[in-house]
Amino acid sequence: MRRIIYLSAARKALDPAEIDEILQISRANNARDGITGLLAYHDGCFFQTVEGPDSKLDALMTRVRRDSRHGNMLILSDKPAIQPAFDGWHMALVQKSELAGLMDDSILPLKALAAQPGKLTEDTTVNALFTSFLRGFRDMVV
Ligand code: FAD
Repeated sequence: MRRIIYLSAARKALDPAEIDEILQISRANNARDGITGLLAYHDGCFFQTVEGPDSKLDALMTRVRRDSRHGNMLILSDKPAIQPAFDGWHMALVQKSELAGLMDDSILPLKALAAQPGKLTEDTTVNALFTSFLRGFRDMVV
């Protein structure tokens, strides 16, 4: 099992319907491929953690790299992992209201996560990198 953590930049501001499109396809594909993780989107920036079997992760990253909705991908970490940091698929977003119709237990408000730095998962690397992602935004207090 392997875990990849990366940052990327949206090519344009994405509206809730476009985020939802990414979310829905990701959930379906990741469940099929045994991949878990987190996708956070705020102010034009993505932070994603994906973890799962090597070959499935390679296939996912090939698709994601080709996706013209974002670019400037920066891999923060790509390492073997002993156990998953996420039990299920999670999506973190800054404002609940942005996805009011789409909210469920797997969509977490980013501000709530920002108020609890280090509580995202038990994995210290993911927590540290996620906290540093949040610190990049003036409206996030970490
Ligand atoms: P298709 O939908 O046939 O895609 C064909 C090609 O077009 C691919 O290159 C695809 O990347 C691109 N594409 C699809 N829709 C659009 C669009 N509206 N605008 C521009 N290009 C488009 N997918 C996952 O399965 N799991 C993930 O965890 C995941 N995370 C993502 C994170 C980010 C930040 C982004 C931007 C996308 C993510 N995706 C994820 C979506 C992924 O890039 C693919 O679109 C998706 O996996 C379907 O790929 P496909 O080639 O099977 O299908």
